[in-house]
Amino acid sequence: MQEDTKVGFKDECGVVGVYGHTHAAELARRMLFALQHRGQEGAGIYTSDGEALHGKKGMGLIDTVFQGPKSLNKLRGNSAIGHVRYSTAGGNELCNVQPFCTGELALAHNGNVPDTEEIERTIAEQGVHRESTSDSEIILHLISIAPGKTIVDRIIWSLSQVRGSYSLTILSKDSIIAVRDPFGFRPLVMGKVGEKTIVFASETCALDIVGATFIREVEPGEIIIVGQSSVESYRLPTSEEEAQCLFERVYFSRPDSEYDGEPLQQTRERMGQILAQECPADADIVIAVPDSGIPAARGFAKALNIPYEVGFIRNHYIGRTFIEPLQEDRYNGVILKLNPIRNTLREKRVVVVDDSIVRGTTSKIIVAMLFASGAKEVHLRISCPPTKFPCFYGVDTPNRNKLIAANKTVEQIREFIGCTSLAYLSLAGLKNAAGNKTSFCSACYDGQYPIKVKHLLQIQAAI
Ligand code: SF4
Repeated sequence: MQEDTKVGFKDECGVVGVYGHTHAAELARRMLFALQHRGQEGAGIYTSDGEALHGKKGMGLIDTVFQGPKSLNKLRGNSAIGHVRYSTAGGNELCNVQPFCTGELALAHNGNVPDTEEIERTIAEQGVHRESTSDSEIILHLISIAPGKTIVDRIIWSLSQVRGSYSLTILSKDSIIAVRDPFGFRPLVMGKVGEKTIVFASETCALDIVGATFIREVEPGEIIIVGQSSVESYRLPTSEEEAQCLFERVYFSRPDSEYDGEPLQQTRERMGQILAQECPADADIVIAVPDSGIPAARGFAKALNIPYEVGFIRNHYIGRTFIEPLQEDRYNGVILKLNPIRNTLREKRVVVVDDSIVRGTTSKIIVAMLFASGAKEVHLRISCPPTKFPCFYGVDTPNRNKLIAANKTVEQIREFIGCTSLAYLSLAGLKNAAGNKTSFCSACYDGQYPIKVKHLLQIQAAI
């Protein structure tokens, strides 16, 4: 995806948990490193040595916050949780960096709880003082004040009051707990290192980096508690129809992460194949907007038997340029990041595949670069449906009035972008490519929100 500015989609967060390893903090650090694409604003790790919790967190990338093994010296103990952050609620400040800790419990959260007023009232009535503006801290405080004899009782009591998306890792002095909301919006998987160490992570790529074997997904609505002699599973009382985030499959999760036993690289190739069947183009070459458009472009090329070529070289050293919302900087951001290969493009009818269009401004720049490099025709193909609605479940999307597809027809978008033709993958095609084993949230494409939230009601009233 190329709308990498403050007004584009932003990744959510990533969580990890480790139980039963002498180097728990180091394992957590490596796993977070594998999840860096899920959040670059801040990172943190808490550990337990059985008597106390120890934490370190800071702003920036993992290797900024944890510079070398010495940075972990104070993080003693055999269990750890960790978090990489992109702000979906709360501002981009140190006080909002996770995990949050009460001294007794620490918590890392991937997701978003849109309506927190009632819960805030409940915790305020108990005299709890918040240090951040994050919805995740509210969940932790709710668990801390909850009645119940066991930690599981307290989690069940608390989360029964929370409507939203949450994949959580929670650390107590003697256990690790992983929880996924009843809809299963955000992913959460469980693995094993050797015989004794249990790990949890947002994606399977974080298991691979520590040599863990995949055990299974944490199921929607499941609570797994890992202690010294047991791994126990409990259920939240509410059951809902599963609503895994479709956009994780299209873009957010790393292509080497697996869902239903298949790496997303393959799933995304299938998106490209179905896109080619639905909206073919008569062209000489297929290229991708790197890196995230590559698998779908390869699938598209294969399906139509058109050569796949590298049309852009991406400079990886400027990172994800979610930097400035200003038009001029976005233009410079694209130019800095992508360089077209003129010899490949000259005099060619080009299909260019990308994974989404947010405002359309980046696509417009890319198309202009292709024509300026000598392309005769530029056919833009998008491996998901038009994004028309904002997300309330952990993905930071622009306001609806900034989403080009919410305000223009496909033909009007094509005119704005300036390409020869434009087509999107259908929602049915996307679901088919993603595998029909799971039911999905597709609210940003079709406005069918699995949870009604107050902001949403206001938006729908304005449509
Ligand atoms: S609204 Fe879109 S981005 Fe948000 S959870 Fe649903 S599918 Fe994912």
